[in-house]
Amino acid sequence: VSFYESKLPETLLRVIKEIGYDKPTPIQAQAIPAILYGCNVLGIAQTGSGKTAAYSLPMIRHVWAQPRPKRRQGPIALVTAPTRELAQQIASEIRKLGASKFNLRVLLTVGGDPKYEQIKSLREGVDILVGTPGRIIDLIKSKGCSLQQVTFLVLDEADRMLDLGFEPQVRSILGQIRPDRQVCLFSATFRNRVQQLVRETIAEAVKITI
Ligand code: AMP
Repeated sequence: VSFYESKLPETLLRVIKEIGYDKPTPIQAQAIPAILYGCNVLGIAQTGSGKTAAYSLPMIRHVWAQPRPKRRQGPIALVTAPTRELAQQIASEIRKLGASKFNLRVLLTVGGDPKYEQIKSLREGVDILVGTPGRIIDLIKSKGCSLQQVTFLVLDEADRMLDLGFEPQVRSILGQIRPDRQVCLFSATFRNRVQQLVRETIAEAVKITI
């Protein structure tokens, strides 16, 4: 399988080539076409599988396809991750995958970082917001962030987010996002709690296990 069969736009294929990814990993080969098609996707995959690029490439395309003025009113895509370190890695992978080339603005928001500057960036316009669930809720509560424009949501390492006690925040985020959103949930395991969350919040989804 090659990236050329994945239906990603030419510009993204060029970025992938420049970075030096020769071929998609198994999770990428399966998830990229499904996400591009607009499906909700449950990816059961570990760190190291290439899951970040599996959702980030179609996410960049999704955001890129939105009309410009919409982007000023709040992020189009939201990625939540259990820890500060993981959120940092995700934001840097998204930037590496060419967010800068497409003039997309990626903001990392995790606890401990100065909130005022993040609110300022959000007011200036952010396309993709990456953060921990606690900080995202915190920003919403201080009116620094609206999820009204979010049409693409990623819950990364969902099992760990639930283990760390973020279930109320994750549910609150899901509840605030418009119902026609596309959701990608990635998790190393598909235990009861994750299954229940999926059943209650994500209508129909393609499940991919690698
Ligand atoms: P992840 O599972 O998303 O944490 O990715 C693990 C590592 O694999 C990261 O350093 C990525 O940059 C790298 N990676 C992702 N996709 C590919 C690919 N198709 N070919 C080679 N390396 C990749």
